Amino acid sequence: MSEERLVQPQAREEDLLESSLRPLKIEEFVGQRQLRENLKIFIEAARTRGDALDHVLFFGPPGLGKTTLAQIVARELGVGFRATSGPVIARAGDLAAILTNLQPHDVLFIDEIHRLNPAVEEVLYPAMEDFVLDLIIGEGPAARSVRIDLPPFTLVGATTRSGLITTPLRERFGIPLRLNFYEPDELRSIVERGARVLKIEMTPEGALEIAKRSRGTPRVSGRLLRRVRDFASVDGHPLIDEKIADAALRRLDVDERGLDTMDRRYLRCIAEVYGGGPVGVETLAAALSEQRDVLEEVIEPYLIQQGLLQRTPRGRMLTAGGYDYLGLPAPKGRESAQFDLLEGDED
Ligand code: ADP
Repeated sequence: MSEERLVQPQAREEDLLESSLRPLKIEEFVGQRQLRENLKIFIEAARTRGDALDHVLFFGPPGLGKTTLAQIVARELGVGFRATSGPVIARAGDLAAILTNLQPHDVLFIDEIHRLNPAVEEVLYPAMEDFVLDLIIGEGPAARSVRIDLPPFTLVGATTRSGLITTPLRERFGIPLRLNFYEPDELRSIVERGARVLKIEMTPEGALEIAKRSRGTPRVSGRLLRRVRDFASVDGHPLIDEKIADAALRRLDVDERGLDTMDRRYLRCIAEVYGGGPVGVETLAAALSEQRDVLEEVIEPYLIQQGLLQRTPRGRMLTAGGYDYLGLPAPKGRESAQFDLLEGDED
């Protein structure tokens, strides 16, 4: 299914506008309190020592602020920021070109770092560890290796799939940081800030209504905010309150828990076709005509967090809560299922 979802946490074209909503300073960044506090200390320490910050790895579902934090890190350090992504760096030479153009202490951000080509990854290891590039020039008997010194830099990697990062790469990040879904209160502050930036009049209850239905994800909050504003302005409501937000979100088919048609199709498929599971992710992907990655990275993490679904060693299972959500009776013994393999636990 390639149709785009309103609650999809990956960026869509319209989200290009979202850069206006990006907080620029660590103090403006809402939520992820512990991560933020730790990061502040590491930044401060690196600045005081006059060193490049150790390499940082952000991992967690899409739309939670990994790119935003990478930019904030560079800004707080007062250094340059260069962004690229794993699949874009096709050859070792491409990476070499990026690395040799960095200024001392710059931040290089590589999004989707789990998708780096293995040959590129090999070049990255000595670059991260010793700030050197080992390149092979020429081919066959004439080939020789050259070593180039690099300026000390900070690599900030981001991934939605920490389980897919190779061990040698993961071990080279001194600061691994996990992002979690946001609480409704945190999202409310993010929605209120967005409303101020976009000059939208909104009551605190209206903001909370959008927050509660944002899948714990700031990117979804920003998008719902813009859609609710569209409905409100066409319907002639200058002030968005809880009732107006609720009516607009219903029309957008986003329910009280932030689930949409795709989530319900997914849950219903497990309940009705596979007797509540366990069912393998490949089977589900085929049954729903959806990519396996989308199920694993986008749909499942939120359903698991909401307690509607479990990942077990034998496959996906609906929980008693999942049956309850669908308004179906749970089969006996469903409550006692013990396993819950979140992605981070697979490591
Ligand atoms: P990711 O890189 O994890 O996919 P982004 O950093 O691109 O996510 O964030 C997506 C959107 O959500 C951006 O518009 C960003 O401004 C907003 N956002 C993310 N985290 C926060 C936050 N903690 N406070 C305010 N806005 C946020």
